[in-house]
Amino acid sequence: MRLSGCLRDIDGVGPEIAWKLTDNLFRQTGSLIIGYSAFALLGAIGFIGTGSYWYLAGLFYTAIGGAWRVRQNHLYMISRGSAPVETWGMRGLRAGWIAAAGWGAWSAVIPFESNKTIVIMVIGVQSATVIGAAVRNCAVRAVAVGQIYITLIPLFFSCALSGDVYLEIYGGFVVLHLLAGLSLTKFLHAQTLRLLVQDEEKTALVRSLEAARQDMEIINRHLETLASTDALTGLANRRTFDLTLAREWARSAREEVPLSLLLLDVDRFKAFNDFYGHPAGDTCLCDIAAIAASVVRRPGDTVARYGGEEFVVILPNTFLDGAVTVAWQIMDAIRNAGIPHDGSVDGHVTVSIGVACLVPAPDSSATQITLRADAALYAAKRAGRNRIHAAGDSGLSQNPAHGDGSVPQSAGFPLRV
Ligand code: GH3
Ligand code: MG
Ligand code: MG
Repeated sequence: MRLSGCLRDIDGVGPEIAWKLTDNLFRQTGSLIIGYSAFALLGAIGFIGTGSYWYLAGLFYTAIGGAWRVRQNHLYMISRGSAPVETWGMRGLRAGWIAAAGWGAWSAVIPFESNKTIVIMVIGVQSATVIGAAVRNCAVRAVAVGQIYITLIPLFFSCALSGDVYLEIYGGFVVLHLLAGLSLTKFLHAQTLRLLVQDEEKTALVRSLEAARQDMEIINRHLETLASTDALTGLANRRTFDLTLAREWARSAREEVPLSLLLLDVDRFKAFNDFYGHPAGDTCLCDIAAIAASVVRRPGDTVARYGGEEFVVILPNTFLDGAVTVAWQIMDAIRNAGIPHDGSVDGHVTVSIGVACLVPAPDSSATQITLRADAALYAAKRAGRNRIHAAGDSGLSQNPAHGDGSVPQSAGFPLRV
């Protein structure tokens, strides 16, 4: 059965607040038990005092009703999601009204009860219980208001028809009691709703702040990537190279281990651009970057774009011969890629690589190794390009296209600076 309009408190708000309102109906088992216990005690005392079976019937009704409501609260706690909020609202409404009908029925004994003490007890328990219930159920006004009417109107008529002048006067108080109950219910409902709305707004604000914080984190990460990556090749950029070199230089100085640096320059790249165009030049740089990155894979190694068609490789904790080996691998890989270059002697893209290796002295500058690698690269260019030159050892110049391809053995001792 749908009591149309009774659940407008639930229908008129968003789902989250609607659930919090029904929570209030079902999550106050303690005060529910106290109210039912008071009526059960009233039934027991009435039966013992008068021997009337009406009181005994009231006792059983209260016991069964109380157990049913406690069970309903329990079901709500364990399976709230099993039914829509409107269904739970309707269950709470029916349960509240049926309970109130039971309390209202107690009024029926008043006109016939000669024991005035018991009459006072009935009136007292009814009044206290209905106000307690109205407070407990004010979240859904239809429940609380219905309970007030269903309980106090029969009490009013019982008092008015009792034939006892003082009970008739008390009937007037019952009307005041009813009005006070309605006004209290209205006030408490508005307060409850206000708090719940505030709570929801706060939760929404916290959620939106959290979402904004996450967006900011993503943007920051993106900015960090943009600031540290070369836009064309996707390699580390010059800024990252400078920071990484400074860090590895300091670490190598502290641990007294060698640090190697490769400086790689594409041979006759201007001619490549002139012949194939700049877009093809860009693609060629991307290919070379990918090749270098695929060769240099040891954790801690860094491949970066130094600028233009120059790339740089930082090899921490690596001796000169190891660095030269890596240079050879890069050179081989680029040659094997066979990128056509009509303006070069070999008909394909080649590179020259300068290699430097130092054990840094404490408080020395990292530019020392860059200058050495640069000088080695310059020497390789001067010697005819398409070759590796290692700083500090004049015998290391090798031409992979024309030489025997062997790795120089004398390169194993880095210079100390
Ligand atoms: P060398 O063998 O002496 O290194 O000759 P090179 O022509 O490679 O040297 P040079 O320094 O004269 O020219 C480098 C060229 O690299 C100039 C420029 O056209 C090209 N270059 C630099 N940066 C880029 C880039 O981002 N994209 C393209 N397509 N070309 C670039
Ligand atoms: Mg250059
Ligand atoms: Mg060049």
